[in-house]
Amino acid sequence: MADIINLLPDNIANQIAAGEVIQRPASAVKELLENAVDAGATEVRLFVKDAGKELVQVIDNGSGMSETDARMCFERHATSKIETIEDLFHIRTMGFRGEALASIAAVAQVELKTRMHQEEIGTYIEIDNSVVKKQEPCQTAPGTSIAMKNLFFNVPARRNFLKSNAAEMRHIVDEFIRVALAFPHLQFSLNSNGQEMFHLERGSLKQRVVSILGQHYNAKLVTVKESTDYMNIHGFVGKPETAKKTRGDQFFFVNNRFIKSSYLNHAVMNAFSEMIPADSFPLYALFIDLDPAHVDINVHPTKQEIKFDDERILYAFVQSAIKHALAQFSVTPALDFELDPGIQQLDALTQPFTDQKKAQSSNTSIYKTFTHANQAHVIDRSSNLLHWKELYGAPADKDKDLSPELPPVSTASVIDERWQEAATDQKVPVQVHQQYILSQIKSGFILIDQRAAHERILYERYQKALSEKPIATQQSLFPQTLELLPADAVLITEMLPDLQALGYDLEPFGQSTFVVRGTPADIQSGNEQASIEGLLEQFKHFSQELKLNRREQLIRSMARNNAIPAGKALGTREMQNIIDELFACVTPNVSPGGRFTFISFKMNDLERMFERGA
Ligand code: ADP
Ligand code: MG
Repeated sequence: MADIINLLPDNIANQIAAGEVIQRPASAVKELLENAVDAGATEVRLFVKDAGKELVQVIDNGSGMSETDARMCFERHATSKIETIEDLFHIRTMGFRGEALASIAAVAQVELKTRMHQEEIGTYIEIDNSVVKKQEPCQTAPGTSIAMKNLFFNVPARRNFLKSNAAEMRHIVDEFIRVALAFPHLQFSLNSNGQEMFHLERGSLKQRVVSILGQHYNAKLVTVKESTDYMNIHGFVGKPETAKKTRGDQFFFVNNRFIKSSYLNHAVMNAFSEMIPADSFPLYALFIDLDPAHVDINVHPTKQEIKFDDERILYAFVQSAIKHALAQFSVTPALDFELDPGIQQLDALTQPFTDQKKAQSSNTSIYKTFTHANQAHVIDRSSNLLHWKELYGAPADKDKDLSPELPPVSTASVIDERWQEAATDQKVPVQVHQQYILSQIKSGFILIDQRAAHERILYERYQKALSEKPIATQQSLFPQTLELLPADAVLITEMLPDLQALGYDLEPFGQSTFVVRGTPADIQSGNEQASIEGLLEQFKHFSQELKLNRREQLIRSMARNNAIPAGKALGTREMQNIIDELFACVTPNVSPGGRFTFISFKMNDLERMFERGA
């Protein structure tokens, strides 16, 4: 029998291997852009024709290559980025496998022009199907230009698999955006069929995000920034109102590498959970930096997954960093972008990690400390209050009942002099149409929706009741019986322990009947029955609307049910209480259902409005 095993020729071996790295024009875009970044370029220009099927070219002003390297770089496993296996754990470059250029050369026609800055003359190389066709000295600008032409010209079957130009172009733009977001200090441009689609000047991350995603996001981004010894996170999330019905602008980068992680995405969604409708998606561009030793990036280059040595810590970290940022965005005008991130109490966040360092051995307890609510890194209520005081200046004089009448409120909010005088001195809140509370703050005024605000207050109070301290029950003088439908009776029975913690004292009395012996102390007596029926109604309503766990559903229902309605006249002291309690909340700016509890009007905005009106 004759021997039958052959060694595959290089070009075929390369073609096979290339299938993993270069699947479509966008894969080449990613690899070439990353090579330019790794080469230290400050300007990177991408040109495509026919959605990359005809041409993908990247021109950079990076280091350039020597004559020998220019030839070497197309060899499989040729890389300048690692030498030993240990280097893998300290990777700071985007590439390291030495496969991209070899793969591209195996499935396309490639033209390379490169010149090192200190050299006068550069190198030109032409490769088809892994075979060098031409190599000669050339005149060229310092840096590198690599053009990939006619992708899969030699593998027609794969060329047929390419999608429509629109679809391939979408992939290209996605890859371009991911690299451009990760390196805002570099200039990028994208030119398609002779037309410039993107021209991104160097700038801050915020400028980069806005120039990619749209100027209208300018005032709609909340800064996220937290540092610990173990890892840092920075970037932006969109304010809750920017959440969209479609998943879209969501970007996670780990050590500047774009990744997809449904796990971390979940952490973000969780942080937003009370603020946006369940089926909508917030915008985010978040950068996590940690020691490469904690990350395994040696997964497949085209898969955007990544392995961490402790995912749970990362999850808790991401979630709390975002909650922290969101909790403060509208309370503290000082938290606008350009301002000092120091206000975000970085120390508070650092704390658990410092502890961790000290007691590295007892991993599990540390983990508990870190993930447990009410730890230092979770929002500190008193600090919120502090911001609030800052906002308002001196505390209001609660005992003086001044309720001057407000003239009809138009969008420009006319404030009569009498009010303004009173407010400047006393900061007395004013009720508007028995629905809103107008309250002056240092930088302007806010309009609080009394119902939404009270819902938020109650919601957090009930949350606390379930987790820490049960609410006091007010015993009824004349216990009432409550007749329920059998299905409702089952519901109530299941919820009895929670209801107890929330201040209800109910006792089963026969099949579908309960005796109401007491209700939460803050519910007016005489309303016992109505309060429970209303609660049931809300509860059932919620189960159709949202998928929440029972407890969450219960306290949301209670909050909604017991909140001060619109149309209720409030005294100064009541209004002041609402304001104080609202801003002692962890998340004061939205109701549990995601509505705004208040809107702020800044003096500069008002001034602008008047000018425009004139
Ligand atoms: P990797 O990036 O994984 O090292 P590549 O195949 O992408 O592998 O590139 C091989 C080598 O070619 C790189 O390690 C680098 O030394 C060199 N190289 C590639 N692109 C450029 C460029 N634009 N400028 C300078 N050198 C480059
Ligand atoms: Mg590379």
